[in-house]
Amino acid sequence: MNELRYERAADSATATTLFAGSGHARYLGGGTNLVDLMRETIERPDLLVDVSGLDGHITLRDDGTLVIGAAATNTAVAAHRLVRERYPVLARAILAGASGQIRNMATVGGNLLQRTRCLYFFDAAARCNKRERGAGCDAVDGFNRMHAILGASPSCVATHPSDMCVALAALGARVHVQGASAARSIAMVDLHRLPGDTPDVETELAPGELITAIELPPLAFAANSTYRKVRDRASYAFALISVAAALDIDPSSGRIREARIALGGVAHKPWRAALAEESLRDQAPTTANFVRAAARELEPAVGLSLNTFKIELARRVIVATLHELSSTTEPRA
Ligand code: SF4
Repeated sequence: MNELRYERAADSATATTLFAGSGHARYLGGGTNLVDLMRETIERPDLLVDVSGLDGHITLRDDGTLVIGAAATNTAVAAHRLVRERYPVLARAILAGASGQIRNMATVGGNLLQRTRCLYFFDAAARCNKRERGAGCDAVDGFNRMHAILGASPSCVATHPSDMCVALAALGARVHVQGASAARSIAMVDLHRLPGDTPDVETELAPGELITAIELPPLAFAANSTYRKVRDRASYAFALISVAAALDIDPSSGRIREARIALGGVAHKPWRAALAEESLRDQAPTTANFVRAAARELEPAVGLSLNTFKIELARRVIVATLHELSSTTEPRA
């Protein structure tokens, strides 16, 4: 039996100090992923530092930036008036994830750090480079229907499971972190890593760094944003493909000033679709242009034995999401 200690941190400085003093600590938010992993013996911490009582406030700064404390529950964020009005893509992404009970428990910080739901990662009898570097990957030639089509490597073809993170990537969020000696912030798109040959290293966080808040920059056209998720059943399922998007259409010219697009269910990290965004700039919001943008983003996509269908599915979901947003903007004057 493993010995396990539990400490409830009163503030972030205490949390990082406790973490640094242990050989194998983990921060505990809502526990909706970590406790499952501990039950399966995938995670074996010797110390749980409970950070669920730290800052979970949602505040609006004078410059229009919305700051969400990392201990805010997913339910609180999705229900917040400013999130629903200014960033509907974020509210919809959160509501598309998990069940109401899990959203009530799960925290924003924990959501960012949840781990892949690759079946082989959860199966201690399977070969998995993410659990044990150099062990091999049973998903590459196994049941890989849910796995990655972009940015994968021979070492790992897993996808990131979060819906919320896809919206945050599209919105250009920043992640505030506190280390033992200093605080810093990281662009959301840079927080998670592609697998390369070290899929066990999933983020750019240094050991012991604690996520303390998410910062959403003011983005007026994010009021015209949405999240579309395609999955095997209507609720409580991870995305085959998801798209978070916002569209800014110039009412005088009818052309796209700016598009924000991120994809879920396609890669080891939330995938900001920068090529598609660039392709749409100053273009008319037409089906042909949406198809061209999707094709440009998906040009490097590679299917595995059971998931090639996801490339065409991603194309269709991108196009459908952009159509939805272009039809909700004001008609031309
Ligand atoms: Fe492990 Fe990644 Fe392979 Fe899944 S895809 S078995 S997480 S190495």
